[in-house]
Amino acid sequence: MASFHSVPTEFSALGHSCACGADHAPAAGCAGWSRRGFLRTGVGLTAGLAAGLGAGLTVPSAARAQTQMTPDAALQAMMDGNKRFTQGQMTSFNDDLKMLKEKTAEGQAPFAAVLSCADSRVPVELVFDQTIGHLFVCRVAGNIATAALIGSLEYGAAVLGTKAIMVLGHGSCGAVDATIKAQAVPGQISVLYRSIRPAVDQAGPNLEAAIRANAKIQAGLLGSSSPVLAEAIKGGQLKIVAAYYDLASGAVTLL
Ligand SMILES: [Zn+2]
Repeated sequence: MASFHSVPTEFSALGHSCACGADHAPAAGCAGWSRRGFLRTGVGLTAGLAAGLGAGLTVPSAARAQTQMTPDAALQAMMDGNKRFTQGQMTSFNDDLKMLKEKTAEGQAPFAAVLSCADSRVPVELVFDQTIGHLFVCRVAGNIATAALIGSLEYGAAVLGTKAIMVLGHGSCGAVDATIKAQAVPGQISVLYRSIRPAVDQAGPNLEAAIRANAKIQAGLLGSSSPVLAEAIKGGQLKIVAAYYDLASGAVTLL
């Protein structure tokens, strides 16, 4: 089985910290990303969640090849990637683009999902040093868990097999700031206020505190408002966490 990654020689000698969460030399291949591994474990989760939903969840066959990582390993892979990002030692750019496309053109098996703000200063894949096919990224101003976002994340977990969902708030979030100031805004921008208001009510007018509270509230909403996600958490197949991205340092901190 060919490795998902193309890793330069210097990493071969040291052992490479793969996105699958394991340290292994590229010659050893990556069990976490092997198609056989996907097939062995993916169907169980999908079938279980589909059963929990009753009849009717159509699972695309290409999406049945899910990662076999645990929720903890998925989170660890993200935090390891963030460490490489902050230390300027990113490895994702070493992956061969042609090979990545060949492995992902038929389907996807991202190991984690991120609910992030749309802010241009939060480039999610870069922040976690991940490439094509690894992260299921949902973005909306204020990283709010509205119905469409919850549906997207349910799809990520139930069909694609993401093992962790991270709600990622960030420093100087304009959406949270505008909610605190309750500014008059054109068009439908104020629709965002409704979802962010509970965090401001809880944390008060301090921007950083409100941003952190908002990430935690949205993460809590995902688990409490979605039976699909709640069941996956209960079964030990999914973890949902809130985190904070520091714009200046590039570091992600779990909340
Ligand atoms: Zn923001």
